[in-house]
Amino acid sequence: VQLDVSDFLRQHIRTVPDWPSTGVQFRDITPLLQDPRVFRVLIDAFVHRYMAPGLRPDVVAGLDARGFIIGAVVAYELNVGFVPIRKKGKLPFTTVAETYELEYGSATVELHTDAISNGQKVLLIDDLIATGGTMIAGIKLLERLGGIVTECAVIVDLPELGGSAKLAQTGKPLFKLVEFD
Ligand code: AMP
Repeated sequence: VQLDVSDFLRQHIRTVPDWPSTGVQFRDITPLLQDPRVFRVLIDAFVHRYMAPGLRPDVVAGLDARGFIIGAVVAYELNVGFVPIRKKGKLPFTTVAETYELEYGSATVELHTDAISNGQKVLLIDDLIATGGTMIAGIKLLERLGGIVTECAVIVDLPELGGSAKLAQTGKPLFKLVEFD
């Protein structure tokens, strides 16, 4: 019996109820990283897709902080550079910033102004898409610097939270490995 990659990865994602607040089902990806065999399956799933000549990006951008873990390894394997999109106040050089609304309050993400050069094809990676606010802010930052976000990639999509539908409206393709209701 062949186990589907998506099912295999799903079995290694831990759900923590009511964290960080009541009503949230936190999808914890740390078990995927901890087991070297599972980590390899995870990374190879992305690398396999983005090795293809038509999909190979010029650079990988990762979202703070779990997007750094997978994004950096995928970039290394593709032999392209990696750029971090960070939460406000962490990047030392001149930055561009995007603020977006959260359920309670707002959040700001930043990118170094020299991180992307005009016309570069960018793959944007995070661990998970929920409402889509973080991913869409990331796209805006990259495109303000002249980047072309060719695709967004996540381990987990939570379609009920609407982010993947919102992203679809921007015309950006989303590659996801696992879905949770
Ligand atoms: P959003 O901007 O609503 O799409 O939220 C996505 C960001 O928040 C990602 O960087 C995720 O790591 C984190 N996040 C949001 N909801 C969850 C969840 N239920 N489980 C794990 N991480 C989450």
